[in-house]
Parts: sequence; C-alpha cells; structure tokens
Amino acid sequence: MESCQLDDLHITINREGSREFAKVSYPVRYGRYSEIRTPDYLFQFNLNGEIKFIQGLGKTWPDPLEWLKRTAGNDWVYYSTGGYSGVYDSFGEYYLPCPSYVTNAIYVNDPFHDKAVSSAITAWEGLQERIRQMALGSFPAHIKEFLVLAGTNGPDKLETRSRTLHELTGGRITVLPPDTRHVDYEVIPIIVADGCLYRCGFCRIKSKQDFSTRTRQNIMRQIQDLKAFYGHDIRNYNSIFLGNHDALNAGTELLVFAAETAYEIFNLGSSNVNGANMFLFGSVDSILNADNAFFDALKGLPCKTYINIGLESADQTTLKAIGKPITSLMVEQAFARLLEINKIYENIEITANFLFGDLLPQGHLASFIKLTEKRLGMPYGKGAIYFSPLVNSGSKQNRGMLRKFYKVKAISPLPTYLYLIQRL
Ligand code: SF4
Repeated sequence: MESCQLDDLHITINREGSREFAKVSYPVRYGRYSEIRTPDYLFQFNLNGEIKFIQGLGKTWPDPLEWLKRTAGNDWVYYSTGGYSGVYDSFGEYYLPCPSYVTNAIYVNDPFHDKAVSSAITAWEGLQERIRQMALGSFPAHIKEFLVLAGTNGPDKLETRSRTLHELTGGRITVLPPDTRHVDYEVIPIIVADGCLYRCGFCRIKSKQDFSTRTRQNIMRQIQDLKAFYGHDIRNYNSIFLGNHDALNAGTELLVFAAETAYEIFNLGSSNVNGANMFLFGSVDSILNADNAFFDALKGLPCKTYINIGLESADQTTLKAIGKPITSLMVEQAFARLLEINKIYENIEITANFLFGDLLPQGHLASFIKLTEKRLGMPYGKGAIYFSPLVNSGSKQNRGMLRKFYKVKAISPLPTYLYLIQRL
C-alpha cells in the first residue's frame, strides 16, 4: 500500500481488502484496489484503474453504510441497506442491490432518482478528467502508474469495454444465477451453450436459438480473450459463470473442460480472494439426465459448484399457464434429485427457482408447500429456494407480494429467498 496527498485528494494504491466474501452489514471491499478520497466522496478503482465503487461522505448521501458499484458490464448498482424492510430475510444478504435498469425487484426503491446518487456519478466523471491531467505530473512510480491507468478510463472507454465483454461471449448476460450473490455477482462469464430446451411462454430472457453447445475451440478462445479483457484485475476474481441458460445440459466433458481450463488460465487458485466457485443454470431435463458419474466429475474440480435449476412450479395448471412444456411429475422428480445430490456431494449445491406472482393459478404456492413437505420432514440448510417475482421493479402493487412471500418462507423447510435478477 502506498499513499500520497495532492491538494484535496488523498490517493492510496494497492489497498488490501478482505480475502473472503462475507455476509456483513457494513461496507467491505474484496481483493486489492486503489482509492481516491475527496472531501465529499470515496472513489475506489479496480486493478485496471477502472472506477468500481463510489461512496458519498457528505450529509446528502442517503446512508453512510451504502455505496454505488459499477459492474464489468458497465451498469451502476446502488447497494441499499433497505432501511427496516428485512433485506436479509428476503435475500439472504445484508444489502439490496438496486440496479439502474428495470428488473424484478419487489421493493419500491429507486435510489437513482436521488440527486445525491446521480451527482456522485457526475463527480466521478469530473474527477476522472482531473486524474487525466494529474497523470502528466511527476509522482512516485506506482502512484503515477495508477494515475495513468485511471486517466485513460473515462466513461466512453468504459462503455466501449463493456461492449467488448459482451462481444467476447456472444452477447450480454441477461441474467446471472441467484447463487452468484455469494460472491457479490463477481463472476467471469464463459458461454458453453446457447439457447435452452423449453422456450417457456412467460420467460422474458429466452433467446431465439435452439439449444446448442459451443465447441472446445470456442470456449478456449473465450477464456483466452477474457483473460486479456480482465487484465490485471483478474487477480480479484475467484469465480466463473458457465452460461448460458442451461449449461448443465452441455454434458460432463464440456463442463469439466471449461471449468478446468478457466481455473488454470485465470489462475483462480492464486486469486486475491480465497476459494474458487463455478455457477451455472440447469433445467429439469438436464438434472434428470445427469447421473452420479456426472456429479462425481464435478466433485473432482478444484472449485465449489452451484447449479440453479428453473423448476418454476410443481402445479400442472401453473406449468400450462406459464407455457413451460414439462409436467409436475418431472418437477417432483427433479426436486427429489436435487435434494439427493445436495446430501451426497459436499462441494456441489443445487438450488431451485419457483415463480412468484399474484396472477399465477391458486394451486401454485399450495403445490410448492406440498412438494417440500412431502420430501423433507425437517428443515434443511443446503439448497436454497429462490422465488422469482413476475413483476417490474418499482410497481406499488408489489408490497402485498412481500407479505405473501414471508408467509411461504415461514413454512418452507429450505432457506427461501427472493430472486433479484441481475445482468452482466
Ligand atoms: S425460463 Fe429458462 S428454460 Fe424457460 S425459456 Fe427462459 S431460459 Fe428457457
């Protein structure tokens, strides 16, 4: 760590943050980073000199415990404590990420309407211009290096870089698995398969493509290009997302190839953050087709695996209403299988999504309760259930849904949370 003061700016480079992702109710930073403190803001930068966090220090900032984060996809997300609204109970995290785009949040909370929040982003743009000028001056070598890097990363460059990221994988990641909350959504995306099996009627993120896997060459190219893209900051990552909507259906060989190659080329074993994780989505068919040999292969990987299965509903009428071409019997079998895998494999966790909405048929929630009661005699701590609200963020009608969610959560024998859709 090295610091210097220049007028009203206090610059610190190579700060050491936490080496473990943790669920805490105060601001924490992971890996290594640099920062510039001004009288009004704390600006924090990743190892590429790109702005990553902004925290207001003045009286107008909504809450001294809250901050803004910029994702690799160049979205600003505001981390809110949620006041007294039970964020931890709802999401399993102490902070509610509020993205600057429309998503499925039940909470009515748009911090981007707060002038203090939008001013913080404008303040960074002003600071960035100042850094560009300062970088021409003389400083100790490492500070100068940081200023030169940060001076090149203005808003236009960051926008271009996010487009590059999306081009490398073949398009924006429209939804990350809910389990990526365990690493604050900090995952490097690698697409192993496109499309999905079902093209459900209700789904707003489905692609037009039929399911098809990528070739090994394509996956290798992505991994090499992504290593170059993430640059110095790759040392701050310990997790990958194997996409897209049903990577589980890509089969053992391709998944193991992608995971092992990424682990080695990204050097995840030497990350600034301990542990390594792999996240992916799966479908009812793909989990039913995956035998124990498949999970034995995943078990041998040097990372923990989280697989999120879209079950949506255990009620046949609801499945028909949402246009999902599977049966309630298949959902029941898939649910039984995920419980079995969670019990057998310590480093594999399968979680499940169910839909949540006022307009779903009456039997939907009742069938969920019946399914979990039938399969689990007592509470079980592994294998979260995520309820995905069928709403747009900001709607005032969402409040009643929250009360309904808490009722279901209270009787669910598994850890039960709301699924907040986030893109990359
Ligand atoms: S919910 Fe999943 S399986 Fe259904 S269309 Fe969307 S991505 Fe495909």
